[in-house]
Amino acid sequence: MADSEPQRPCGRLAPSPTGYLHLGNARSFLLAWLQMRNMGGRIILRIEDLDTQRAAPNAAEQIVRDLRWLGLDWDNQLTSDYFQSNRFPLYQQALATLQERGLLYPCFCSRKELRSIASAPHGADGPIYPGTCRQLTHAQQQQRSQEKSPAFRFKVCPGTVVEQHDEVAGLQREELGQTTGDFIVARADGVVSYQLAVVVDDIAMGVTHVLRGDDLLGSAPRQILLHRTFGATPPSFAHVPLMLGDDGVRLAKRHGAVALRELRESGVAAQQLIGWLAWSCGMIDRPEPTTATELISEFSLRTIPREATRLDASALSFFASR
Ligand SMILES: [Zn+2]
Repeated sequence: MADSEPQRPCGRLAPSPTGYLHLGNARSFLLAWLQMRNMGGRIILRIEDLDTQRAAPNAAEQIVRDLRWLGLDWDNQLTSDYFQSNRFPLYQQALATLQERGLLYPCFCSRKELRSIASAPHGADGPIYPGTCRQLTHAQQQQRSQEKSPAFRFKVCPGTVVEQHDEVAGLQREELGQTTGDFIVARADGVVSYQLAVVVDDIAMGVTHVLRGDDLLGSAPRQILLHRTFGATPPSFAHVPLMLGDDGVRLAKRHGAVALRELRESGVAAQQLIGWLAWSCGMIDRPEPTTATELISEFSLRTIPREATRLDASALSFFASR
């Protein structure tokens, strides 16, 4: 692409089909959609069903229905190419590339062994891997492969620091050796890691902007490192605070009717919900009904609260009273 033609902004909605979308998902997707529409960019819908075991039947259709109900749209046809479960050959290619470059090694550690190092310092995703299997000789790798199939880890060079300016969370600086260590890119059962799959997909789909819940803030440095390893420019990241139940815990069924489907079936109109979500993000002064499209010009990353929103009794009664 010529320098004079900057890449058109492209964002993505990337739900996992593990259950129904709830208010928290809806808010993150609304914001991701608004960011792109405000910039005149494209938006892609991609179903992150890597873990096909956990995918609920028909969940993708339900997600599409929920997103349409919210008034969100996307610029791709949701063909099988946009389901991660159909993209394994691409991920295998990426693994082979890393392997050829000497950036991977097999890890034979069992869960139990990994747990026993759990007394070691913890990072973003649990204990920092101490590099046990990095030392194995080729002969030892061959021998152990006969007993069990290994996972594969990405070698993090000592001293690797990833610095990035998150558009909501601010400046982030992480030394990966102190937070994750060599991290898994393929599990022993052959399924690639979330980290690798999203990077491969974001590169292939031309994604330039990632706006998502801040539960994923800790995985951004590994993704940025992988982007750079593949010679790609990492997307700009914006990690937005989650919506929590009144007990301060991530939204779940026990917090009441928080699934979009339940709200819809209980008679809540999408405009009421959108208005409430926009108000919770400081885009409008009062939780009055509105549409996603009407909010496009109001969108700004600056109004997004820096702290999680608690879905307290007043919020729930707001919906119950409709
Ligand atoms: Zn190991």
